[in-house]
Amino acid sequence: MFKAFLIKFAEIGVKGKNRDLFEAALAQQIKYALRRCEGQFAVRRNRGRIYIEALSAFDFEETVENLKTVCGISSICPMVQAKDEGVEKLCQDVVDYVAAQYPEKRFTFKVDARRAQKNYPLNSMEINALLGEKLLDAFPQLRVDVHKPEVMIHVEVREKIYIYSIEIPGPGGMPVGTNGKAMLLLSGGIDSPVAGYMVAKRGVKIDAVYFHAPPYTSERAKQKVVDLARLVARYSGPIYLHVVNFTEIQLAIYEKCPHDELTIIMRRYMMRIAEQIAKKTECLGLVTGESIGQVASQTMQSLAVTNEVCTMPVYRPCIGLDKQEIVELAEKIGTYETSILPFEDCCTIFVAKHPVTKPNLGVIKRHEENLKDGIEEMVRQAVETAELIVAEV
Ligand code: ATP
Ligand code: MG
Repeated sequence: MFKAFLIKFAEIGVKGKNRDLFEAALAQQIKYALRRCEGQFAVRRNRGRIYIEALSAFDFEETVENLKTVCGISSICPMVQAKDEGVEKLCQDVVDYVAAQYPEKRFTFKVDARRAQKNYPLNSMEINALLGEKLLDAFPQLRVDVHKPEVMIHVEVREKIYIYSIEIPGPGGMPVGTNGKAMLLLSGGIDSPVAGYMVAKRGVKIDAVYFHAPPYTSERAKQKVVDLARLVARYSGPIYLHVVNFTEIQLAIYEKCPHDELTIIMRRYMMRIAEQIAKKTECLGLVTGESIGQVASQTMQSLAVTNEVCTMPVYRPCIGLDKQEIVELAEKIGTYETSILPFEDCCTIFVAKHPVTKPNLGVIKRHEENLKDGIEEMVRQAVETAELIVAEV
């Protein structure tokens, strides 16, 4: 029944030239999502709206599922199209729409008509009144409620007639590509994919870095991270994933630093390396899945010590979320099932039984001195030999 979609987006704060960029980026992301769907579509921008028209047979569910991944979309409205063949035919089309769409005809409604053609024989108010009357005639159990209708029946009279009443929520936010690029530290856990999604939703393109420690972390653990990057890429577009070999650095820390400080020192090296790659790839910030107090390395003291090595802003979109809230988001975006697969990541192998929860920066820096023979070269090597994988759907 549906052959087209009206795409609604929030435009608050997006004005003038930026608005045009915003819409163009949104149209581009929509096309990218539709490429994954069966069928041919035309995407058109018209007066601050975006319309998608199916040019061939298509799978409705699949199309909606993919559109739900486009950041910037606030709602997806499936529309019925009809030829403009006069007022009487319009009334019949709207009655047919309600007949087909709502098996139970017990609801309150309101008609909201708009006309683009100002030479149409009726104005919007007259169309509303006429269609309301025709619907009540056809379905006597319906009731009009102009203030809080259960069903709002939108009718647009343009070169064709468009009818819609369903609004499927999209992710909201802003189209990817309208807000620069950031480097996500992506592990195989639950939190960092969610963090990536949350910045992508604000229009930020993301690259990612994963610290791999073969043979302590398996190929399957790496594959899991690639899979997670692909899942996030449904929302963010293609992700350039840099896989850094971290084994040598991790072993050096393990050998030369106190074991209760391993995680903190390791996290500082991760941040340093991520930042170097971020600078080379024109990222404007780092993104992690950290949340205050979640583990020893995420107390306020630990975060301060980790953060101290960064000169770029570090964005932590999960910072105030409880684990359960992060899990719910992971389920919503479809990364949870993959995140809980039981492959070790490099942090779980080199963890101490009793890691420090209140590290002292001076002490940590002193212990990092133990690494001074060779660590710079190791970091340089790690950055230079990073493997690049393009993760896309
Ligand atoms: P996650 O669920 O995202 O793995 P976590 O609760 O396991 O997080 P940590 O292991 O302390 O927490 O990691 C904190 C953050 O550091 C992660 O969210 C991620 O951004 C980054 N990180 C940790 N390990 C790695 C890794 N091997 N490669 C890349 N980033 C990592
Ligand atoms: Mg982790």
